[in-house]
Amino acid sequence: ITVGIPTETFDLEKRVCATPDTVAKLKSAGFNVVVQKGAGVGSDFSDEAYESAGAEMASSAADAWKCDVVLHVRAPTTAEAGKMKEGATLISPLQPAQNEALLEKLKSQKVNALGLDCIPRMLSRAQAFDTLSSTANITGYRAVIEAANELPRFLAGSFTMAGNVPPAKVLVVGAGVAGLAAIQTAKNLGAVVRAFDVRPAAREQVESMGGEYLTVDIEEDGSGAGGYAKEMSQEFIDAEMALFKAQAAECDIIITTALIPGRAAPKLILQEAVDVMKPGSVTVDLAAEAGGNIATTVRDKKIVTPNGVTCIGYSDLPSRCAGMSSTLFANNVTNFLLSMGDPKEKRFYIDHKDEAVRGALVLEKGEMMWPPPEPVKP
Ligand code: NAD
Repeated sequence: ITVGIPTETFDLEKRVCATPDTVAKLKSAGFNVVVQKGAGVGSDFSDEAYESAGAEMASSAADAWKCDVVLHVRAPTTAEAGKMKEGATLISPLQPAQNEALLEKLKSQKVNALGLDCIPRMLSRAQAFDTLSSTANITGYRAVIEAANELPRFLAGSFTMAGNVPPAKVLVVGAGVAGLAAIQTAKNLGAVVRAFDVRPAAREQVESMGGEYLTVDIEEDGSGAGGYAKEMSQEFIDAEMALFKAQAAECDIIITTALIPGRAAPKLILQEAVDVMKPGSVTVDLAAEAGGNIATTVRDKKIVTPNGVTCIGYSDLPSRCAGMSSTLFANNVTNFLLSMGDPKEKRFYIDHKDEAVRGALVLEKGEMMWPPPEPVKP
């Protein structure tokens, strides 16, 4: 069985779905690995390093896409999907509810498609396959680093004979995986951190990291299926927005991470909140790719508002730590692939009884298999 690693083509994407270490792991498990030349360059993995690990280097994308199993960091384009051969298996993020044209193309190619974003995350065994968490963890860290880089002061307080400066105040909206990583990073840099989420379970996690948990005066539980958030009532969103506007006047950095699976990101920080922020303060919107939580976010850009607030909408934060992001992503995907059988024993198959595999299975030989039946629904 040959595993293909094509170069990523998504705008600003520097990651790659295999490292020399994962190539060696796949080789020793009995797979052949074909890596497109230059695929690892953005993550500082050279062609020579892949070759030494046992990969065959392909000079064209087509050579990597025509393999038996193709691993990819981003969902492929329809043109890339069109290069797959009948009966082959794609393992990549798929977002099946939002990707109709891609699914139609993959159906017509009669391939198997496993969505990394569809693996049930609550399954403890599947934590080793969880690319969403690995990526969000890096994104949250990098958001604080980008903000700190723009903020014209320390995050920690400074107490010297030259005078006292209090610590910077950081507000984190959404305390999921990325939000918690941002809280931890900002705390480590010495900031005072406040956070808000719609899921009551987030309170304990925020407080355990030394963050202050903010609340509104409305009781509404935002916990939806699979530990994700559900859409909140307008009354709740209004209360949240009032809270954030009051916080905006005080905080030096606002980092937003609020996402609802399958929906556009909720707009939570309105123009009037950005208007009351201090000159020099910074916003980072991790929901930029899903439409943004902040009124002033421009995707993939850094802008400065007339009142001097720097607003960051970079959607490539994982690629700004590309080597580490690729390493963790590739480890997750390799763990998942290796869980699906043993090529030495000619056992590589899509096992419907395996909850992680069944949850991820979107297409089998071009047939729609998603959403999965109830017990394995993520
Ligand atoms: P996500 O990226 O989909 O969302 C980020 C955060 O935004 C979530 O915490 C969500 O509650 C919050 N949010 C949504 N709407 C909001 C609003 N209007 N205001 C404020 N916050 C809002 O989520 P994620 O980080 O991928 O994961 C969220 C949760 O999923 C985790 O905290 C956990 O409960 C669960 N999870 C479980 C596992 C596991 O069991 N292995 C792994 C990862 C995540």
